Amino acid sequence: DYALLGDKIVPKKEISVSLEDRGYQFGDGVYEVIRVYGGVIFHLEAHLGRLDDSAKAIYIDLPCSLRKLGELLGELVKRNGIVDGKLYLQLTRGVHPRVHFIPEGIKPILTGYAEHVARPLTSLREGISALTVEDNRWLRVNIKSLNLLPNILAKHRAKSQGADEAIFVRDGLVTEGSASNVYGIRDGVVYTHPANHLILNGITRQAIVRLSEELGIPWREVPISAEELARMDEVFVSNTILEICPVVSVDGRTIGDGKIGSVTASLQAAFEREIESAAGG
Ligand code: PLP
Repeated sequence: DYALLGDKIVPKKEISVSLEDRGYQFGDGVYEVIRVYGGVIFHLEAHLGRLDDSAKAIYIDLPCSLRKLGELLGELVKRNGIVDGKLYLQLTRGVHPRVHFIPEGIKPILTGYAEHVARPLTSLREGISALTVEDNRWLRVNIKSLNLLPNILAKHRAKSQGADEAIFVRDGLVTEGSASNVYGIRDGVVYTHPANHLILNGITRQAIVRLSEELGIPWREVPISAEELARMDEVFVSNTILEICPVVSVDGRTIGDGKIGSVTASLQAAFEREIESAAGG
């Protein structure tokens, strides 16, 4: 097994974490999760662009160019023989005796690894359930930061009540999921929260916006209330691993007839075509 360390591919066992790594001590870093289909990295440029944006937002420099990083990730996938899987990439500010301010001259640490992950075919077909929870995160969640404690607690709450995903609600309005973007469909129109500081602008979300336009599905970046969400004709969530995943119940209330809706299904089909063409048919 191989992993990425800085601008090198090294045996996985050679990587260790320092006690004083600021990612470890403070969550002082950012990350990406990227999909691999048929040995090909999916939406690579968009993910690298977002990593760059997240890193810049917290004043961390990447140790190599995005182009070089893309090449390294390709090599990582190849050397690990990944066909369908994911890449996890993490950039921390580096190692320094513990201080709250940002130390000068500190060298960022970039690590990454690849693993096999099958497509979530059952969830894609049958849908998942969701529970709404208060969105008590900070106000810059557009940065893909390592600080995921509110997301973890929200997901735990959902799981402990038998639901698959937690849906965050801020001031009565649905923002996003604990690890996904959220969409509601009413009368054929897709509603989702605008891509501002209150959500992470998912790479899958960006693909869905593009596919909706191609399919002529009307699209509104308008927040909806938790109450409205439960009364939508269709609800789905998206992320890199879950793809376009129907939500068939919210807070125990069945959405539509409890099955995949037609708009969700046509977006899924278009997304599937995009996967197939990226993976080389
Ligand atoms: N929102 C949150 C909070 C997430 O953690 C994620 C990804 O896991 C997403 C949205 C979806 O982003 P992407 O489609 O880039 O995976």
